[in-house]
Amino acid sequence: MKHFLAICDKLKKVLAGKTIFLFLDYDGTLAPLVDRPGRAFLTKKTKRLLINLAKNRNCKVAIVSGRRIKDIKKRVRIKKIIYVGNHGLEIYGPKIKFEAKIHPKFPATLSSIKEELNKKLSKVDGAFVEDKGLTLSLHYRCVNERDIPDVKTIFHETVSTHLAGDKIKVKAGKMVFEVRPPITWDKGKAILWLLARQQFANKNRKALPFYFGDDTTDEDAFRALRKRGITVFVGSSGESHAEYYLKSTQEVARALKQILKYCSTIE
Ligand SMILES: [Mg+2]
Repeated sequence: MKHFLAICDKLKKVLAGKTIFLFLDYDGTLAPLVDRPGRAFLTKKTKRLLINLAKNRNCKVAIVSGRRIKDIKKRVRIKKIIYVGNHGLEIYGPKIKFEAKIHPKFPATLSSIKEELNKKLSKVDGAFVEDKGLTLSLHYRCVNERDIPDVKTIFHETVSTHLAGDKIKVKAGKMVFEVRPPITWDKGKAILWLLARQQFANKNRKALPFYFGDDTTDEDAFRALRKRGITVFVGSSGESHAEYYLKSTQEVARALKQILKYCSTIE
């Protein structure tokens, strides 16, 4: 894997005659990871960069998150940006409003899982269940290390019958388990949908997609954009399907600054 900042000077050549479609994960990519998801915010510098990128006519920006759309919009608060929430199940932006169709019985399944988890986890300090409408997250970042195996067992016990009946889908992220509707829709599918839409609206200019992400759920997007765009993993080299890597959210801010610079020079 190559470091993304090391190849930035080649961007001008790659981008000639094209526009950029910038897809950015939120937690761990734009905002540093924190113990409580409620405390994850953008730095002033990153927010300023995003505002300027969104304003630039050569660049389109989408924030792609596992958070629910309301939450992510409240945290970013920038107009002209596309917001992709719940790993692609909800998409909102200028002239875009999309919500994935799910089985009518799914909400009841989700709420019974939530209730059961809350009951079983009431004695485990630091574990908490977040209701995100279309999905559910069990966060265990604040759980004492010795209790983590218990949390995992409780989770698997709770979801196993629903999983066996194809009533839900389960995915693990960084110190979090997610329960989702049983449909084949993820961050990768959502960004391909957005790209196709963009290409249709603007036939004259090709959009080059960039995707920045740090977690297992971003791997779907990295795979979807293989050979089609520029993929950047935030973390250590070699742990991802992405082509490039950056070490931290600070380096992501530096990369965004470079991209903004190049966007401003495209004719
Ligand atoms: Mg993330």
